[in-house]
Amino acid sequence: MTPSGGRPFYLTTPIYYVNALPHLGHAYTTIVADAMCRYRRLAGEEVYFLTGTDEHGDKIAQAAAKAGETPQAYADRIAAAFQATWTKLGIAHDQFIRTTEDRHKKMVQAILQQLYDAGELYFGDYGGLYCYGCERFYTEKELVDGKCPDHQVPPTFIKEENYFFKMSRHQPWLVRHIEEHPDFIRPERYRNEVLAFLRAPLEDLCISRPKSRLQWGIPLPFDGRYVTYVWFRPWAGRGRSGSRPSGPTPST
Ligand SMILES: [Zn+2]
Repeated sequence: MTPSGGRPFYLTTPIYYVNALPHLGHAYTTIVADAMCRYRRLAGEEVYFLTGTDEHGDKIAQAAAKAGETPQAYADRIAAAFQATWTKLGIAHDQFIRTTEDRHKKMVQAILQQLYDAGELYFGDYGGLYCYGCERFYTEKELVDGKCPDHQVPPTFIKEENYFFKMSRHQPWLVRHIEEHPDFIRPERYRNEVLAFLRAPLEDLCISRPKSRLQWGIPLPFDGRYVTYVWFRPWAGRGRSGSRPSGPTPST
């Protein structure tokens, strides 16, 4: 049996955020991924290797403004620098996905529409502590001395209406799936870390941002006043383009 059990070996790097030019950390991750794929190919396996760039969000819009460019022109320039770097380093990826490409936007909107139609999303009022650096809300518990643990600055309280994903209802099957499939997350210590995290109740996830505050994003297919929250969306870029994400079917 092959290491991946006869199925194609699929590997993705993070899709890199284009708020700055590629650096050694991006190169390291991508070279390691490339080496892994080359090894698997040599071993006779079918390999699919994806990388790309994540090009929406507050931070990109801010970086573009600072550079005196439109967000799209800025993203085009930085994404081209990533592609040129991978060419120079001889990275043999099968796919380079940019989140500003039409094929990505269409897939994200199709997934969102499916979730909406399935009753997985709801519209609600949300007030919370927001870190502009992280582009996310924090709970009091997550703060360290009242500050964002990543940026060391106190978050700002903001209140707005948004769409939420009913993440809490997926907790039981997710825990069961991880426990019943020991190979699902490896190595073991990361599986244990995830399970420890899942012992506390999961809160529903805010998945939108009002266009009045953030223009640079993918519009929600069912409400044009909102764009998709950047951290809810990029994982969709990591699937094979055009295909649905696969996984267990939630039983609720
Ligand atoms: Zn932060």
